[in-house]
Amino acid sequence: MAEPLDVIVAGAGIVGVSTAIWLQRAGHRVTLLDRAGPGRGTSHGNGGVLAAGGVVPVTTPGLMRRAPGMLLSPDQPLFLRWTYLPRLVPFLARYLSHATDAHVRRYAAAMGALLLDSADQHAALANGTPAERYLSRDDYCFGYADCAAFEADGYAWSVRRAAGVRFEVEEGTADPAFAGAFGTVVRCRDHGRISDPGAYVAALADHFVAEGGHLALTEITDIDVAGGEVTALHTPEGPLRADRIVFALGPWSKPIAQKLGLRLPFESERGYHIEFHDPSVMPRDPMMVAAGKFVLTPMEGRLRAAGVIEFGGLDAGPRHAPLDFLRRQVAALLPGLTWSDTTEWMGHRPATADSLPLIGPMGGKGRSFAAFGHQHVGLTGGPKTGRIIAGLIGGEAPNIDLGPFDLRKYAARDGTTTGRDR
Ligand SMILES: Cc1cc2nc3c(=O)[nH]c(=O)nc-3n(C[C@H](O)[C@H](O)[C@H](O)COP(=O)(O)OP(=O)(O)OC[C@H]3O[C@@H](n4cnc5c(N)ncnc54)[C@H](O)[C@@H]3O)c2cc1C
Repeated sequence: MAEPLDVIVAGAGIVGVSTAIWLQRAGHRVTLLDRAGPGRGTSHGNGGVLAAGGVVPVTTPGLMRRAPGMLLSPDQPLFLRWTYLPRLVPFLARYLSHATDAHVRRYAAAMGALLLDSADQHAALANGTPAERYLSRDDYCFGYADCAAFEADGYAWSVRRAAGVRFEVEEGTADPAFAGAFGTVVRCRDHGRISDPGAYVAALADHFVAEGGHLALTEITDIDVAGGEVTALHTPEGPLRADRIVFALGPWSKPIAQKLGLRLPFESERGYHIEFHDPSVMPRDPMMVAAGKFVLTPMEGRLRAAGVIEFGGLDAGPRHAPLDFLRRQVAALLPGLTWSDTTEWMGHRPATADSLPLIGPMGGKGRSFAAFGHQHVGLTGGPKTGRIIAGLIGGEAPNIDLGPFDLRKYAARDGTTTGRDR
């Protein structure tokens, strides 16, 4: 084992908690830090799907043509806070520039290495801990109104197949929850489900603390940088220093990178969920409703409908239109659904313009590390990301190509920043 180090992991979402546990297992002295507590950020309210086949980005060819119509319709899963548009434009231009076949193929190759074994990665992380009870190996289904709708999505399925995702196409579904709702269902194998993502991350953090890890509930208000490297974190309780610092602040990571001189094209892809408590029907497996691009996932005592992309920044509160969209979609799909209560939630998917997460060294001297930007698949890829970061800190060569995830692509050789993603 490499020499034990003092390590701070900033951010206790699925990425940070996973990183903290793998560092702890490698023998390091680890502090996990969060202002709100473990599993209270985006990792709380997601769809709960271990989307091993999530190798197709939102930016697929044709998006530029489809996007304006989608934004103008309340019945499409893409929303915009129009007052945010002026601030969004530079990001949006670069985001849309990645809607090409070449980028999709590059993305799929990179993300396949991160995601395809995610059910095993979660088992390696959670088995033997109190979090194990939330983890199951389920198929992940995609429901289409009919065969024509499935065929219209043929590009995405060809990319998934080429990346090694195993799936079968079925006529209709045997799941009584969706009787008659779908003409064609794609059943993805080797996937998984977390039955309560927030509780899962909190249980993993409990395990970390029970094994001797330190959990600090405090806020990073600023950082000190010297020689291109992070030297201290400012908190209300005073500065914190460590041999290594990992930044896993999810959608709130951009100011840290900016302080290091990196200009990330980074945005929140806001998403929503509605939970139906004590529902009268419960699907057997998570179901992606292809027409509405939202997932219906069985949770503990609740049915969660999660999805929608809304560009609107980190600061503004939730809006009615995306929630109304989800409600209408669920009512059309499950007309007989009854429930005792509902809960609504909005969260922030951390997204770069090329949709690739940032994993690896962040400062110039290998003392600080990035582990953020996992957009729609952070629950899926968090545990492997944590394992990779722990390996890097221990001096191990990663067993996947981290080039596509390298944050330093945003820095020019002469030290100035280009902010260009390849
Ligand atoms: C509607 C929706 C559905 C989704 N469905 C899925 C899905 O089915 N499968 C999947 O794989 N992914 C899904 N995702 C994406 C997934 O939830 C995210 O990619 C993932 O949760 C990101 O995890 P994280 O650890 O990077 O960030 P977070 O969970 O957001 O954690 C970041 C943490 O940093 C802390 N923090 C931030 N700033 C500071 C500061 N200054 N000081 C101290 N602490 C700070 C926050 O409190 C937070 O706890 C979905 C997302 C949404 C919105």
